[in-house]
Amino acid sequence: MDVQQFREFGKAAVDYIADYFQTIRDRPVLSSVHPGYLGELLPPEPPQSGESWQDVLQDVDRIIMPGLTHWHSPNFHAYYPTAHSFPAVVGEMMSAGFGCVGLSWVASPAYTELEVAMMNWLGKLLHLPDDFLNCSEGPGGGVIQGSASEVTFVALLAAKEKKVKDLRLLHPELTEADIKGKLVAYSSDQSNSSVEKSGLLGSMPMRLLPTDEKGRLTSAALIEAIEKDKAQGLIPCYVVACLGTTPTCAFDDLTDLGPVCIRENIWLHVDAAYAGTALACPEYRYLMKGVEFADSFNFNPHKWMLVNFDCSAMWVKDARYLVEAFNVERIYLKDNHKGLAPEYRHWQISLGRRFRALKLWFVLRIYGVEGIQKHVRHQISLAKHFEELARNDARFEVCTSSMGLVCFRLKGNNQLTQDLLEKVQDRKNIYVIAGKFHGKFVIRFAICSRLTQISDVEYAWQEFLSQAESIVPSNKTKIVDEITEKKSIATIELSSAACDNNEKSKVRMLFPDDDNPNEIDRNIWFQQDGATPHFSLEDFTHKL
Ligand SMILES: *Cc1c(COP(=O)(O)O)cnc(C)c1O
Repeated sequence: MDVQQFREFGKAAVDYIADYFQTIRDRPVLSSVHPGYLGELLPPEPPQSGESWQDVLQDVDRIIMPGLTHWHSPNFHAYYPTAHSFPAVVGEMMSAGFGCVGLSWVASPAYTELEVAMMNWLGKLLHLPDDFLNCSEGPGGGVIQGSASEVTFVALLAAKEKKVKDLRLLHPELTEADIKGKLVAYSSDQSNSSVEKSGLLGSMPMRLLPTDEKGRLTSAALIEAIEKDKAQGLIPCYVVACLGTTPTCAFDDLTDLGPVCIRENIWLHVDAAYAGTALACPEYRYLMKGVEFADSFNFNPHKWMLVNFDCSAMWVKDARYLVEAFNVERIYLKDNHKGLAPEYRHWQISLGRRFRALKLWFVLRIYGVEGIQKHVRHQISLAKHFEELARNDARFEVCTSSMGLVCFRLKGNNQLTQDLLEKVQDRKNIYVIAGKFHGKFVIRFAICSRLTQISDVEYAWQEFLSQAESIVPSNKTKIVDEITEKKSIATIELSSAACDNNEKSKVRMLFPDDDNPNEIDRNIWFQQDGATPHFSLEDFTHKL
C-alpha cells in the first residue's frame, strides 16, 4: 500500500467510524450471531495475492460489524464502561502511525517524557498526595500500564520485594525462599477477579475476606485474618483495598485499613479501576480519605475517563521497589527511575512500551478538567435518575447505588429477578448483567456509553417494566384486569388509613348490585389527603 492509498483508506476508515457512531443508537446492542459464525464466512487460507482496501473495508461491514457487541450504544448497561472518545481514537491512530517502541528513554524520548508529564497531570487531577508524583522530591512516581490486573500483579511483586528486603535486614539468617514461601495477601470478597488472579500468579495466597453490610472490607476482618496467619508462622505482605468494587461500587475506608497496614508493615495497594475517575470532582474526594497510607494506587482512564483501552494509571510511593523487582540488570540506577527520564521498562512486565500517553494527552487537552468533571457528573446523574425510577415502583428494591452503578432487584425470591434478567437479555434491546450482593440476586445497571441520555435511561426502565409485568404484575394491571372482568364496578373506595401510607393502600371495590362489597388488598401508587375519597370508575382508570 502506498502513501496515497493510505490517505484514502485512512480517511474512509475514519468516515466509517464516524458513521458507526452516528447510527449506533439504532443498532441492537447485542449481536445475534451464533458461535463459529465467522469461521463460516472467512476463507480457510489467507489470500494468495493482495486484495484492495475497498474489499477489506466492505468485509468489515459485512462480517465483522454483525459480530460486535456495541459497548458504546446508549443501551449498553453491562459491566462497567470501557472508555471511548474521538480524541483518544485519534491518539491511538497516531501512536500506531509513529510506530515506535519506547523500551528506553533514548528509544523515543517523547514517549517517556510525555508519560511522566501526563502521570503528573493525572495525579494532580485526582489530587493524589504529592509523594506519588514524578514531579515531587523523593522516590515516588507514576507509570501507565495496560490494565488494572497488570497493576495489581506488579504491585504484588513490588510488595514481595519490599517484604523480603525488610525482613532480611532484621533477620539476615532467613533466605529469600524462606520468606517468599510464607507470604500472604488480603483483599475482600468483593474485589475484582484480577485481585485473586494476582495472588495465583505471584504465588501468594490471597485471602478474600468477608465484607460489612455496605460491601466494605473492615479493619476488624483484616486484623482477625492477619492474626490467624501470623499465629501459623505466615507473613502478611500485601493488602488490596478497593475504591469502587466491581459488584456494587463499594468504597473501602482507607482511614480504617491504612493504619493496620502501617502497623503491620504491609504494602497497601488501592484499586480504584472504575471509580478513580470520579476523584476528578472535588465532591467525591472524601472517598479517598486515607490514601496517604497507600503504597500504590491505580485507576483506569480506560474505564470512565474517555481514554480508549488500554490505559491504566499506576502510582507508587517508592518506585525503587518496582525497579528492584523488575530490573534484570540489577544495576541500581541512582534515582534514575524518577525525575525526567525514568526507565519505565523496569516498572513493568514487558520490555516494549506503547505510546499510551499520547491519547491521554489528547483527551486531557481537548476535554479539559471541566469536560471530564462534566462527563462524570452527567453519568452519575443518569444513574440517580434510574435509581429514582426503580425506587418509585413498589415491586422493586434498590440494593445499592453508587457512582454510575445501580444494583436492583424485584422484591421476593431470587428467581423473580433472574427471570426478569433472562427476559430482558433475550430481547436484546438493552444489555445488563447479573450480580450477587449478600446472597441476593441483583441486576447491575451501569451507565456506560458517553452517548447515554435521560431518554435512554427511561427506555431501559420501560424495558424492565414491560418484562416485569408478566412476573409481578403491577397493581395497575391487576386492577385493570379486574375492572375488565367485572364491568359492573361503579365505585372504588380507598380506606382512609391507607391514604396515610405511601406504599400500601387498601382498595375496596364496590359493586352497585352487591350488598357485600368485595374487599381486595392492593398496592396503589397515588395518595389522597384527608377523608376517604371516592372515585368513579372513570376517575380510577384515569388515575391508573
Ligand atoms: C474492571 C476492574 C478491574 C480490572 O480492570 P482491567 O483493567 O480490565 O484489568 C480491576 N478492579 C476493579 C475494581 C475493576 O472494576
